[in-house]
Amino acid sequence: MKKDTVVLYPAPGMGHIISMVELGKLILRHSPPNSITISILITTGPYETPAITSYITRISHTYPRSITFHRFPHLSVDTDDCSRSHTAIQFDIIRLNTLHHFSHSLHHIAQTDHHIRALVIDFFCTSAFPIAAQLRIPTYYFYTSGASALAAFFYLPKIGEQVDKSFKDLASTYLHFPGLPKLLASHLPEPVLDRNDPAYGDFIYFCSHLSKADGVIVNTFEDLEPIPVRAIADGCCVVEAPTPPVYYIGPIILDSIDEEVEKKHECLVWLDEQPNGSVLFLCFGSRGSFSEAQVREIAIGLERSEQRFLWVVRAPPRNTNSKQVSEYEEKDFDLNKVLPDGFVERTKGRGLVVKEWAPQVEVLNHKAVGGFVSHCGWNSTLEALVAGVPMIAWPLYAEQHLNRAALVEDMKMAIGVEMEEDEFVSGSELERRVRELMASEKGREMRERSTEMRERALKAWEEQGSSANALNKKHKQIDGNT
Ligand code: UDP
Ligand code: UDP
Repeated sequence: MKKDTVVLYPAPGMGHIISMVELGKLILRHSPPNSITISILITTGPYETPAITSYITRISHTYPRSITFHRFPHLSVDTDDCSRSHTAIQFDIIRLNTLHHFSHSLHHIAQTDHHIRALVIDFFCTSAFPIAAQLRIPTYYFYTSGASALAAFFYLPKIGEQVDKSFKDLASTYLHFPGLPKLLASHLPEPVLDRNDPAYGDFIYFCSHLSKADGVIVNTFEDLEPIPVRAIADGCCVVEAPTPPVYYIGPIILDSIDEEVEKKHECLVWLDEQPNGSVLFLCFGSRGSFSEAQVREIAIGLERSEQRFLWVVRAPPRNTNSKQVSEYEEKDFDLNKVLPDGFVERTKGRGLVVKEWAPQVEVLNHKAVGGFVSHCGWNSTLEALVAGVPMIAWPLYAEQHLNRAALVEDMKMAIGVEMEEDEFVSGSELERRVRELMASEKGREMRERSTEMRERALKAWEEQGSSANALNKKHKQIDGNT
């Protein structure tokens, strides 16, 4: 007898793959034993790293019968075209992989005695949408940011029609999205800022396909973002079509069991020595980095705040306009060259600086940690939420300004840093915010609020909780479709 399978198609890149695997595990946990398998399509090519390969091997060993990876054959793509943005190239690579290998992989899965019940795609993989529609496979998006960013993307094609310039040329204009705090045009994700960037067209293509899907699965929960959830449900965000079913099934966060741990990280050993709730953790995602001048200013702010801190510092990007650093740039980076003279000595005992990477989920859940300065990446946001740690929001790229607005203005889980026009943050501003979070009445109230939000996050997954119900509803919809 044929076995039912759900096919997942993540974008390449560790973060995207991890999120899809977590979704696959969730689907398995909430299905009757042995009733379904998960098939994951993997795009090979320039984004393939040893970390991804070993992650896939680990997951395959842990779930030998229920999760199968299907790696596309290697496709060589020109990634050196300087006239195209990084995001445009990423869309191109996925489009090419989809055209060459997607249908073939689905046929292969079907031939190995599987009945494909549904396809779940990342937004970067919208190129698979028309092919799946032709094959009549129910297709869902897995949207790995929150309801606020989803509301914005649902509505973006409409806003795009209302203005005749690139958003980057409307720098100080505020945009009004239904259900969201007002947003500066220049704070939209970079790929949509410039209409002449091919990635703009790719994004709008994705946004207008969201409403054509059989459903959108979102990594958030209703109680966390009630205002955009309501705006979407009321049909205010998708204007020219019916709103598709939206399933809020979060929070899903990285399962640290799947991480390769050789020995306890030095920062966890250090945290063991610190008083409860006393340490501020600063970490800016997998790629967030700052100019040398900004790193020095952060150091000044931390030193003056007199609070304990654990700070993850990445290499400053070579391109001074960038806020992201590549793996390549991390090599040969000397921490001492970017920190002010004597900083490490002067803050010894109350501060620890870590180069490149810290095990964030474990750090946030350590009892010594009482606050988190974050770039508002969605995974980081959910991880802080589940750990009950309040934040200082310092957005850098992608949809992080949207997340910041939601975190500061709606959820009241974060204090925003005030940025100068070029987005520089002074040491004195940081000092002020750090004291506010770690050593004031407001900070104490925020910690209480974070504990409350943590409880609500856990409730969403209890029996009859909103996320558990949403996942069941999605299963029922798939059953009804086939
Ligand atoms: N990651 C990891 N180990 C590594 C490198 C990355 O676990 O050695 C994970 C990390 O948890 C994060 C993600 O990779 O979730 C970042 O992936 P990526 O660089 O693809 O960023 P994205 O495109 O998702 O923003
Ligand atoms: N992360 C980590 N250690 C680091 C930096 C990042 O474990 O030093 C992990 C973090 O826990 C989260 C992910 O990387 O799971 C970052 O994802 P997020 O969506 O917050 O931001 P992105 O990296 O995609 O900008």
